This record gives sequence, structure tokens and C-alpha cells, in this order.
Amino acid sequence: MNTTTVAPRKIRLIMKLRKSGITDTAVLGAIERIPREAFIPPMFQDQAYEDMALPIGRGQTISQPLVVAMMTQELKVGNRMKVLEIGTGSGYQAAILSRLCRRVYSIERHKPLLEAADHLLSKVLRIHNLTVKAGDGMRGWPEQAPFDRIMVTAAARSEPPRALLDQLAVGGIMIIPMGPDKASQYLYRITRHEDGYECERLMAVRFVPLLPHIAKNAPVDESDEAEMILPLALES
Ligand code: SAH
Repeated sequence: MNTTTVAPRKIRLIMKLRKSGITDTAVLGAIERIPREAFIPPMFQDQAYEDMALPIGRGQTISQPLVVAMMTQELKVGNRMKVLEIGTGSGYQAAILSRLCRRVYSIERHKPLLEAADHLLSKVLRIHNLTVKAGDGMRGWPEQAPFDRIMVTAAARSEPPRALLDQLAVGGIMIIPMGPDKASQYLYRITRHEDGYECERLMAVRFVPLLPHIAKNAPVDESDEAEMILPLALES
């Protein structure tokens, strides 16, 4: 996609997000600045600015822009904060967060996805306040804890992983989708107070499941070939 096709599509998407309740100008600004097309496999380039989730390989998806925007807005990120993301996937949500806070740490259990995202974020887009690693995000990142904010982008079945609750700073906020299956998942905001955790239900969502352990020999799906090919136009 060239810049003449991107600009009007991007404006249309931003207008849709505003109408759908995204009022935080910093969040809208981050969405405007980060090129979503760079995170999308070549065969889905035309849909880069549609408000929909798209496949990124390994059976995983880049989330719908409205969900990314809503989760980011509800996280209430400040520019001095240290943020942990679970489920790097394409790296798009991590890139959005990197514009709003001091430092982002992001963990992905699929190594090939992690490697592609790492290359795109650090070498192509040159985002330097972001560190990624392959691993089981359900264990968090103890060496870097506590975190002011935690965003989980895969759905837990019934409760947030204990390690993530422990690694959330007092006064900190975690956004996490939870539910037994895709048909009955909700986004929750968990706030850690001095004396315990407060949990609020936000909106209905559909996420891939949060799974334990690093992925080994994951089944290959047909979009996998596309997954490792970076959009060449952005390499310059
Ligand atoms: N934030 C991503 C969305 C990715 S979809 C983006 O902006 O593109 C959710 C991702 O969570 C998948 O890539 C999946 O592999 C990953 N995931 C699921 N369980 C995980 C775990 N325990 N640790 C780390 N990543 C996990």
C-alpha cells in the first residue's frame, strides 16, 4: 500500500474509533503514528486499516484496532511508566504502548512470531524503549518487576495468572481478557490497592487463549508463509 491509499483509510479508521468511544488523544495519536500495515502479512495488506482482527500466522491474530485502542485507553498509561505486555504477536500493541510510556517489556510463547516482531520493532521501525523475549508470559518477567501497568492480549480461562498479580505494582492496573471460551469472554481491569485487588468488567471480546509454556512444534497454518515476510516497502 502506498501513502496515498493509507492516509484516507487511516483517517476513516481514526474517525470510527472516536465515534466508538476512544477519546484519549494520546491513544489516537499513537494509532495514527504506528503503521499497522507493517504488522500485517502481504496477503492482507488491503485490510490493514479495516477495523478487524487479521491472521499473523501460527493460528494467532493481530487484534482489531478498536480493541487495541480500548485496551490501551483503559490501561491509563502515563509517560513515566514501565509496562508489561503478554502476547507480543505481531508487535503492534507493543509499538502503540511504546509511544505512551517509558519502557515496554513484551513476552511471546511462539518463537517465530517473536523473532519477526523483534526485527520489525527494533530494526525496521527503530523503536528503542521496547524489550521482547520468547517465553511463558504466565510467569511474567520477575527480573523487571514490579510493573506500573500490565496488558494481557490472550484470554485467561477464569483468573489472572498469580505471577502477574504479584508483579503488578501497588496502584498498578492490569487489563486482561478472561472467559471459558471465545463466546463468553470479557475484558477486565484489575487495580492493585494496598490491601488487595479490585476487578471491573469492561466489554465483551474474543481473544485467542493464553496458554502455558513456550510453544514447541506448533501446527503450521496456511498464513505461516506470509508471516515471516516483512513488507519490503518499509525496509527502506
Ligand atoms: N498483542 C498482539 C496480539 C497477539 S494475539 C498484537 O498486537 O499483534 C495473542 C498472542 O498471545 C499470540 O501470539 C499467542 O501466541 C500469545 N500467547 C498466548 N499465551 C501466551 C503466554 N503464556 N505467553 C506469551 N504469549 C502468549
